[in-house]
Amino acid sequence: MATRTETYLTALPGESWINLQRADQVWQRLKSGTTDMGGRPAGGAGTGQWSTTDPEHLAVSTSTQPLESVDWDVVVCGGTLGVFLACALVQRGWRVALVEQGVLQGRAQEWNIARSELQVLLDLDLLTPAELEATIATEFNPMRVAIRGWAPVAIRNVLNLGIRPAVLLATLKARFLAKGGQLLEHSPFTQAIVHPDGVAVTAGRRLTTRLLLDAMGHFSPIVRQARQGERPDSLCLVVGTCATGLPAQEGGDLLATTTPVENHCQYFWEAFPAQNGRTTYLFTYVDAQPGRPGLMDLFETYWRLLPDYQGVETEALGLHRALFGFFPSYRRSPLTPQWSRILAVGDSSGLQSPLSFGGFGALLRHLPRLSQGCHDALQADSLERAALAALLPYQPNLAVTWLFQEVMRVPLDRPAAPDQVNAILGPVFQAMAAQGDAVLKPFLQDAIQFPALVRSLAAIDPRQLNLVGLLQRVGPAALLDWTRHFLALGLYHGLSQGAPSLAPYLRSPAAQRWLEAMCYGAGQEHKLGRPGGGSRSG
Ligand SMILES: Cc1cc2nc3c(=O)[nH]c(=O)nc-3n(C[C@H](O)[C@H](O)[C@H](O)COP(=O)(O)OP(=O)(O)OC[C@H]3O[C@@H](n4cnc5c(N)ncnc54)[C@H](O)[C@@H]3O)c2cc1C
Repeated sequence: MATRTETYLTALPGESWINLQRADQVWQRLKSGTTDMGGRPAGGAGTGQWSTTDPEHLAVSTSTQPLESVDWDVVVCGGTLGVFLACALVQRGWRVALVEQGVLQGRAQEWNIARSELQVLLDLDLLTPAELEATIATEFNPMRVAIRGWAPVAIRNVLNLGIRPAVLLATLKARFLAKGGQLLEHSPFTQAIVHPDGVAVTAGRRLTTRLLLDAMGHFSPIVRQARQGERPDSLCLVVGTCATGLPAQEGGDLLATTTPVENHCQYFWEAFPAQNGRTTYLFTYVDAQPGRPGLMDLFETYWRLLPDYQGVETEALGLHRALFGFFPSYRRSPLTPQWSRILAVGDSSGLQSPLSFGGFGALLRHLPRLSQGCHDALQADSLERAALAALLPYQPNLAVTWLFQEVMRVPLDRPAAPDQVNAILGPVFQAMAAQGDAVLKPFLQDAIQFPALVRSLAAIDPRQLNLVGLLQRVGPAALLDWTRHFLALGLYHGLSQGAPSLAPYLRSPAAQRWLEAMCYGAGQEHKLGRPGGGSRSG
């Protein structure tokens, strides 16, 4: 008999059911250890043709022979988030080619973001104010954090905009082409050979470039090789729908739980008003173990729990879209460049938080320093591995989030107390909310700051938390590791406070990268001021 997932997804236009089966197969193989991050995930990235060891099938190899001449300054592989940097760099006068395996187009489903986070698109002159407004499908408030058994916490202006990726990417594509960029669609990247003076890229045809930006997402063959088949330390599994028929609500949910731990998973909800109804996501954090649920299992859980969460029977829904995916995360993030002249951007870089799957938000946040950093590196012809590493520096404010993820992930190998996650999240969010938006907001926007973290920790009543149980769960090693990152966050915070007065004296690109590492790593990038303009020659 067909499951509810099969019944509902086969009734949708498009290939949702087939894509879900494909994504689930990749996830099944990954957790059973029969494959690494290769294969064909949802969305179709990657073809599984690459090896991390067989020299014949390496995505990246090196050669000591110079190329003598190169056609491009930058080749960007992967268009979804790649087009943002491609556009920023072509505007600064660089010769940029953008290589996309399919057609460069955004998906139908909205990306959620805050209005303030979009300002960078105006600052970098990537969109006009009118173009920016045209990308916004919905705007709503308030947003809630609602943990089972605890009073909901409300906050405004966090992830409260729905952006139409299709409109945004179409606008950037037009701008990129108008500024002289070259777009190669239906041109899958297959190989890169790094020479001393450039990279030879094969993507249907051969392109030579000074710098290759890898924006091919989590399943990038380049990342796969760089990570040497490393298994993700954790994954976020997500399923959901965009549907009509749900009770109208003004705001959305950033995080909600309605159940205790089940099946060694704590299930979390997110909900957003959408242009076309309402989006609801069910997600959970897991490790890559065979006993973890598949995406289809998670979808069955979604149908089962949705009526209790949204107060509507699934039969009453008018489904527009099914949404699903899994997001791997690695403690070894961001990914340090493994080769000269190749830099990862977007999801492939691991710059996004292991708590949220907000890769679009993470890219926007880092776009000013990445575009400036690439510009400086091209101008100084400083494209060796160590110089590019300064563009993906250690981020203590990302590293500290691992412990929070650890708390939200229920191990398979130990008995789980039903409320072990809710009983921690409830008091923690209450304490943060009591401290005000200045404490809660950075946490919810993936930009954890030292003072806010210290205030939150100090405000938590230890009697409300089962500290002994918590310590047993996360273990001394994880706690020590976290303490190290916490102290680094404090140090970075201290150094970032001097940024406004130091910046005028630290003008060299290397010094600027150092300052950016401090400020971004402490969630204090506003200390650097607004991004500057400048062109290839300026
Ligand atoms: C259900 C869901 C909801 C989400 N909601 C949000 C949200 O609200 N806010 C937010 O900030 N983020 C959200 N995200 C995350 C966001 O979608 C990703 O972070 C973003 O898509 C990452 O873009 P990327 O370009 O790095 O990688 P991908 O999206 O994986 O895109 C990779 C690109 O590279 C191309 N490509 C792949 N392989 C090749 C190849 N061999 N040759 C050439 N091109 C190739 C692909 O076709 C694609 O264009 C969500 C994700 C999902 C699945």
